[in-house]
Amino acid sequence: MAKEKTAFFCKECGNESPKWFGKCPACGAWNTCEESTVVTGKDSKSVKKSVGMEMDKGLPTPINEIGNAKEQRIILPYEELNRVLGGGLVLGSLTLVGGEPGIGKSTLLLQTALQLAGRKVLYISGEESQTQIKMRAERIGIHNTDCLILTETNTQEILKHFKNVQPDIVIVDSIQTLESPYVDATAGSLSQIRETAAEMNKIAKAYQVPVFLIGHITKDGSIAGPKILEHIVDTVLQFEGDRHYGFRILRTIKNRFGSASELGIFEMNATGHRHRRHHGRATPDAHRDASLGEQCGLWHAATLRHRL
Ligand SMILES: [Zn+2]
Repeated sequence: MAKEKTAFFCKECGNESPKWFGKCPACGAWNTCEESTVVTGKDSKSVKKSVGMEMDKGLPTPINEIGNAKEQRIILPYEELNRVLGGGLVLGSLTLVGGEPGIGKSTLLLQTALQLAGRKVLYISGEESQTQIKMRAERIGIHNTDCLILTETNTQEILKHFKNVQPDIVIVDSIQTLESPYVDATAGSLSQIRETAAEMNKIAKAYQVPVFLIGHITKDGSIAGPKILEHIVDTVLQFEGDRHYGFRILRTIKNRFGSASELGIFEMNATGHRHRRHHGRATPDAHRDASLGEQCGLWHAATLRHRL
């Protein structure tokens, strides 16, 4: 059996320490120390197997026999989303989409899944019921009948479904709801976030399937999860904007596969004409009632960027 020990982590930077600290020795932040359990010992192999796969053994290979390193990408229905990802979604990549609750992260990714015809998408939600998601999907418009909705938070159950479904893309809403049975801590805690993100990363890499993780942060960034997640994931996108207005900015914070200074602009379209091009102004409806827009959940890439 794997052994468990207690360690201390900095909520700001994820620095691990065997002892409690008042000031983080790595980043200098004060009062960011949090106690957490980690799995360790010789038998930590059982944890490596927690995602149920054998990784490549890493045999020496003549360089000419190694496959072309150029990343394969899936082109998503939004030009702006493709841009912030560095030119499409890289196979096997783990992408964190962070932002405040209610900003529209789930809607943006659900809408992407529903418009991605010809690709099997597994949308895993620990936040909403299947019926709630179906209602939202109907308002958005279902163009991709190969979008599967799973309400599950246990990573081992998710892995089973993943193997059965064999999706092209996985979306997890949200990382704060995931629970690994290999860590004895509640969902949303530092140790669960670290473990479940690492497990999702192994799934992504081993099966070469891109995985999106939605991560909630508050205005003051006080929830540690996403900051620590930044080290684990390949790409970090931040969804920003005033929830009372119709525009949202999707900003690249980190990208292993492209520039980390891209941004995409999305406009909430409460009327449903999501393919209509705008000229840098939100619709009166979107101004009047942002929550209506969120209910309808329709986004499209705006042309505003040319004016910035
Ligand atoms: Zn720190």
